[in-house]
Amino acid sequence: MKWELRLNERRLKGLRRQNCSGMRDVSSDENFSFMRLKLIWIFNFIPHREARALRGNQGYYWCQRGQPHSRPALKIKIHRRIMPDDMARPLIRDRGEAGGSRHLEASVSDSPVIGIMGTGDFSRSLARRLVSSGYQVVVGSRNPKRSEALFPEEAEVTSQVEAASQAALVFVAVFPEHHSTLLELKPSLAGKTLVDVSNGLRINHDGPSNAEQLADMFPESDVVKGFNTISAWALQRGPRDASRQIFLCSNSSTAKSSVMQLCRRMGFVPVDMGLLSSSLEIENLPLSLFPSWRIPILCTLFLFILFYLYNFLRDVLQPYVTAGKSVFYKMPIETVNVTLPSVALVMLALVYLPGLCAAFFQLWSGTKYNRFPNWLDRWLTSRKQFGLCSFLCAALHAIYSLSLPMRKSARFKLLLAVRQMKEGDEVWVEEEVWRMELYVSAGIMALGLLSLLAVTSLPSVANSVNWREFTFIQSTVGYCALSMATIHTLLYGWGRAFDPSQYRFLLPPTFMLVLVLPCVALLGRLALCVPCVARRLQQIRRGWEKTRHIRFRLPEDNCRNRLDDVSNV
Ligand code: NAP
Repeated sequence: MKWELRLNERRLKGLRRQNCSGMRDVSSDENFSFMRLKLIWIFNFIPHREARALRGNQGYYWCQRGQPHSRPALKIKIHRRIMPDDMARPLIRDRGEAGGSRHLEASVSDSPVIGIMGTGDFSRSLARRLVSSGYQVVVGSRNPKRSEALFPEEAEVTSQVEAASQAALVFVAVFPEHHSTLLELKPSLAGKTLVDVSNGLRINHDGPSNAEQLADMFPESDVVKGFNTISAWALQRGPRDASRQIFLCSNSSTAKSSVMQLCRRMGFVPVDMGLLSSSLEIENLPLSLFPSWRIPILCTLFLFILFYLYNFLRDVLQPYVTAGKSVFYKMPIETVNVTLPSVALVMLALVYLPGLCAAFFQLWSGTKYNRFPNWLDRWLTSRKQFGLCSFLCAALHAIYSLSLPMRKSARFKLLLAVRQMKEGDEVWVEEEVWRMELYVSAGIMALGLLSLLAVTSLPSVANSVNWREFTFIQSTVGYCALSMATIHTLLYGWGRAFDPSQYRFLLPPTFMLVLVLPCVALLGRLALCVPCVARRLQQIRRGWEKTRHIRFRLPEDNCRNRLDDVSNV
């Protein structure tokens, strides 16, 4: 029976999300409220006939989904006959009922009263979420009459003093600049938990944080920092749409655990960040602008501009200067399309080069206990972002390439080819055809493998594979992607490297520059696969040191996976 009720409740939650967002429990019978609440939802979902049947009798019921013979929407069991006076009460009460003033429902009187100071955007969203999670909510405002209509009717909007005295846990949803205006509530808030949801205007490295300042103002209250990383909009939409994590910290473990429990009941996942001294870090979280992406994005932009200018110089400016031929129309698509794969390949090489640098650094220093230089440390931690930037450029290159035949200029070239054919010129060049087939195929393979790498870098996917599987995909499959992309570029180059007309303005073709780093990465990887080098690296990673006494021989079996370990940097 218990299981059945839980199942029903789950289904009812789904229904509530779909249709019935304005409903509420109006029962005053505490023991009966649970069942009654469910019936209200059902009554708003099923046709009137079934609803009437449900109201009258005790037993099991199947509630139909609108059509008489459709699949049952849910199955419930009613323990007790609903009393006639219960039924006489309207299921949805008008806003003005109960003498115009709004009071908390008795049916939820067993749940704790949560106070919110302030009636702004955040307060409204929080109140909605708390009410839908079954809490009694009391909102403190400087002007309750003005803000009352903005809140769900289950929430009581009253003066700040009254709200502070009613609630056991109070959210401070006012800007930190106005925290001091709450000082008159000090006696009412003494011994209670205050949740500081505030954010700063800019990143604060030196402290004190808003939460620490609030704790200084209210020394008799327990301040918990949290909920600041979640926007009012996300809070209103709930954990389905928003990030589920809520970072919390406090000097009082009791206060913190009560807020954690509240988070869980609201459907969020609390993350304990320790003492209130962490509040500065939590306050800075929503203010940082892609901290781990800055270098990869700058690097991508730099490479893009560099290669674009280089291609522009060679493919657009050179024909104009030397032969007066205007091909500026190439700038928006063709030049961009030659630039994007160049950036993608260099960025992909930059994903694997720091691992190789780290491996050679360890081989050179003969120990793994020497710290890497800072630049290498930072580079190693940004590899995922480098890879995703590379994937973005590769994907854009694919889209640009597919759109090439749609251009007017491509159609003119096609007409020229047809005319040449009619005039008896040989347009089918076997070698060119083969080159193109292989070139496109290698490009598609490279993009496919890159997509796999990008997907597995998503935290949800990465969490579903073990470490060995993850390193296999990111390293072995990654090197395959790099090899494929390099082959794709080599096939593009084909004989062009040996054609003097390709050295416009005495500049080598772009693909030759692009290939330098990928070739270095691939050769470096091959060097690490040489058995004696791989073995030494394996030993170093197990604690062997050249200059100390920590020397040992690895058993043969331990070297079986050495290739994986080499890639594991
Ligand atoms: P808001 O819309 O401007 O609301 C602030 C509320 O503070 C006002 O409605 C006001 O309500 C109250 N208040 C109390 N004393 C005040 C005073 N002396 N001067 C001015 N207002 C006073 O701001 P909000 O967006 O809800 O943000 C509130 C807090 O939540 C801020 O600390 C913010 O950093 C934090 N937060 C907001 C979001 C978000 O998405 N909005 C997200 C995370 C954190 P009464 O007039 O009724 O008293």
